[in-house]
Amino acid sequence: MIDVRSDTVTLPTAAMRKAMHDAEVGDDVYKGDPTVIRLQDMCAEMLGMEAALFMPTGTQSNLVALLTHCQRGDEYIVGGDAHTYKYEGGGAAALGGIQPQTVPFAENGEIPLAEVEAVIKDKDIHFANTKLLSLENTQHGRVQSVDYMCNARELTDKHQLLLHLDGARMANAAVALGVSLETIAKPFHTVSLCLSKGLGAPVGSLLLGDKKFIEQALRWRKVTGGGMRQVGVLAAAGILALTDGFERLHEDHEHAQVLAGLLHDVPGMSVRQAWVQSNIVWLDYDGDHGASLPAYAKQQGLQISAGRNAGRVVLHRDVSRQDVNIVARIIREYFEKNAV
Ligand SMILES: *Cc1c(COP(=O)(O)O)cnc(C)c1O
Repeated sequence: MIDVRSDTVTLPTAAMRKAMHDAEVGDDVYKGDPTVIRLQDMCAEMLGMEAALFMPTGTQSNLVALLTHCQRGDEYIVGGDAHTYKYEGGGAAALGGIQPQTVPFAENGEIPLAEVEAVIKDKDIHFANTKLLSLENTQHGRVQSVDYMCNARELTDKHQLLLHLDGARMANAAVALGVSLETIAKPFHTVSLCLSKGLGAPVGSLLLGDKKFIEQALRWRKVTGGGMRQVGVLAAAGILALTDGFERLHEDHEHAQVLAGLLHDVPGMSVRQAWVQSNIVWLDYDGDHGASLPAYAKQQGLQISAGRNAGRVVLHRDVSRQDVNIVARIIREYFEKNAV
């Protein structure tokens, strides 16, 4: 079975399993797990941030960032269907009393900064207290430029706001732009990075910021139930994700390009070419194929997720160049039979 539903579906490699088996561990709540400390230090160094904190998930990492930065009655500005806003259960509002102010994403995945500036509220007792701007890179696979992120920081500085990056797939952004993780992280006060997406770890994210922020975040991680014990077994996989996983990420981007090329002339659907910038290929189609495409594909040995009028294929380590041909063939066969 080939699985292109997400880059979260990768299985730990033999090297990862061995590293997990051999990991030196201790109780991380007592800051006694040397492998967790090694992962945190290594990631902080790679991103050029002062400190890092190992988190169970990206959702908790973003939530802890917001809880640490914002008080009840504060507000953060966020993209219209950003993960933090739409796909994390409304955690910041539910648990922190933090109000989201959304701004729709533009076609290129940016939240236009003029629109951000327009919704920043004056200091006035009638208004929530605008505190933070949260960006996403990559956004549905779309890579956000270094210029854009730096301009966002200029804006937040001008208004004395904080700038957070939901960098679940920031490693993909770095690879696509040909820049370091540090360059992506630099404009931000805090950054969240997933190890369990394209980087291939079975679990784990990192939250990064300055030392004072991370000290406070440690408390919020505990409060949200994220104090963990001998998790060096997981951090060991995370270390390989940041090294070997990062090194091979360009292959997924190449595969996305190849797949987009193979699908360009399939009847009844189109590839959203301008969005093929990293490891995700979006397909648009007429008619509702949300149930029938995945059902057909599954019979052919392919797991794919599809919505009513659009679907996405996510490339990752467990999809080989050979598999890309098979994915393209199955999608083509489906639409040749079922195009409206
Ligand atoms: C996956 C993802 C997250 C975090 O998700 P978890 O499944 O909780 O690790 C956050 N933001 C974006 C953009 C994501 O794609």
